[in-house]
Amino acid sequence: MRLANVGGRAVIVTGNLKGIDVQVASAGKFGPELQALYGDWDSFLAWSAELTAEPDVGFTEAELKAPSPTPGQIFAIGLNFAKHAAESGFGTPDTIPPVFTKYLSCLAGPNVEVPLPTDGKTDWEVELVAVIGRRARLVDPEDGWSCVAGLTVGQDLSERSGQLAGPAPQFSLAKSHQNFGPTGPWLVTVDELADPDDLNLTCSVNGEVVQDGRTRDLLFSVPRLVAALSRVVTLYPGDIIFTGTPEGVGMGRTPQRFLSDGDELVSRIEGIGEIRQRLVAIAKRR
Ligand code: ZN
Repeated sequence: MRLANVGGRAVIVTGNLKGIDVQVASAGKFGPELQALYGDWDSFLAWSAELTAEPDVGFTEAELKAPSPTPGQIFAIGLNFAKHAAESGFGTPDTIPPVFTKYLSCLAGPNVEVPLPTDGKTDWEVELVAVIGRRARLVDPEDGWSCVAGLTVGQDLSERSGQLAGPAPQFSLAKSHQNFGPTGPWLVTVDELADPDDLNLTCSVNGEVVQDGRTRDLLFSVPRLVAALSRVVTLYPGDIIFTGTPEGVGMGRTPQRFLSDGDELVSRIEGIGEIRQRLVAIAKRR
């Protein structure tokens, strides 16, 4: 199933920009809000499996919002691809990779403009994003996938000057500027994917491919991340995990390269879809 957030309403996508409005088709049993669906995920899955309704809504790409728009927790994983750890000047993690957050206010839908922080070095990081569908605490890796409602595409946009200034890295703050966490275009349930552990992910800037990786190269796979996180924290339905980026970020290039006014960033994951950002300069703020 592909589940979209169309202007705040849950829509099961059935074809090209059309689908079934969950609240209408369920006569109010579910929806319209996606966040509530994740809290009732098993019931929703059982209902949707029996669904016979015809598509009743059309939508535009501009109407799409974040598949999990108000997660209680946002986790982001650093250094989860060996070659990206190397280009960043770090070794590879052997227990759990670095975990930080992207604050909720940076979360956005799949087709937003991103204001460029003034005097910053804004970089790209395409990432697979997992949305939690079941409460997870002390989960074993082999049960990790069963806690995931589905997957979506994300960009972990990062402002490197602020990230690396000061006595200790500022991962969370420097990665939380306005619209620095676009996600979408929709949630895809794991059963839709031939191999959810091996998906091609790419990122391009103005049509030039700058990242091209596969999720089989994640040092910590999605189920291992769920397991490792759940040893420390409780994961709740609707929580999201940015799972880490492959090599090819601007900071790791020689010479380094960062985003500028007018650039178009396209992030794509096999079997899920793509998100598209335009970077725009903003007037200097006090
Ligand atoms: Zn990242």
